[in-house]
Amino acid sequence: MKIAILSHKASLYSTRRLKEAGEQRGHTMHVIDYLRCYMDITSRRAKVMYSGKELTGYDAVIPRIGASNTFYGTAVVRQFEVMGVFSSNDSQAITRSRDKLRCMQLLAREGIGLPVTGFAHSTKDIDGLIDTVGGPPLVVKLIEGTQGVGVILAETRKAAEAVIEAFRGLKANILVQEYIGEAGGCDLRCLVVGGKVVASMERRAARGTGEFRSNLHRGGTAHKVRITPDERSTAVRAAKAMGLRVAGVDILRSNHGPLVMEVNSSPGLEGVENATSVDVASRIIEFLEQSPRRIPRRDRIK
Ligand code: ADP
Ligand code: GLU
Repeated sequence: MKIAILSHKASLYSTRRLKEAGEQRGHTMHVIDYLRCYMDITSRRAKVMYSGKELTGYDAVIPRIGASNTFYGTAVVRQFEVMGVFSSNDSQAITRSRDKLRCMQLLAREGIGLPVTGFAHSTKDIDGLIDTVGGPPLVVKLIEGTQGVGVILAETRKAAEAVIEAFRGLKANILVQEYIGEAGGCDLRCLVVGGKVVASMERRAARGTGEFRSNLHRGGTAHKVRITPDERSTAVRAAKAMGLRVAGVDILRSNHGPLVMEVNSSPGLEGVENATSVDVASRIIEFLEQSPRRIPRRDRIK
């Protein structure tokens, strides 16, 4: 097969691993910087241009679109879809996954366990919002945050009010969530590929620091973990609800079962491959090998 990895940086671990895994399985792998793709989107015959040449003959694309480039990146993926090229994740599912509130609304509709989460626009509703999630302790999250930045544990109502007011004063969008203390500073990251969990790791917050966030960027550590059938089916259902074929599903282990925090459409491979020794990149390539080569015309743009 001829496969394009749509990635802004060829040197990123995940991009390198996908290229290597594809080549090992006998495919032609090209890393294409989607920010350098350009196109005439009104042309009857869809095409994508790259350094003065037309990109042709691809059997599949693997989008690795950074959060800050979602708008342009998904337009490039969509153009490949219009051309009938299969994508490991649909452009529409990537767009959907980047809106945290929309994600939670979709997951809730499917009956997937979620931490009780509230959202409000006006600071006049802070009290109501805090009550909605059952009062303190609670977690306040910047909606645009990643890698644990802007995730704050407020242990008292006063602290929660102050944090919410400060964020809203800066016009930041936030959500307020019940604090799952029994997770003990740990969470699960499950890699779902083609409707199966292929690898799972537990991330643990740095000990003895008062840190409750388990992000690797916040000094957390990761190791391989066995997950329960309930956790496995929750991860698979969450990816399916989002319409993602490749996803990283983050789960908190609560005393009333698995609660999904987030579903990521470009999950990093480094942490999970190192922690579990599973060759996730090859699992993604194998999945593409089993996927249809062309998208039916009527399904090409949604
Ligand atoms: P990001 O997307 O920036 O990583 P998360 O929402 O995943 O932010 O939160 C970062 C970390 O904080 C999580 O990995 C988890 O360890 C912890 N955490 C987040 N929300 C909760 C919660 N409601 N209860 C307990 N711990 C939480
Ligand atoms: N950006 C990657 C992701 O969201 C790396 C972060 C991580 O694995 O925690 O999956």
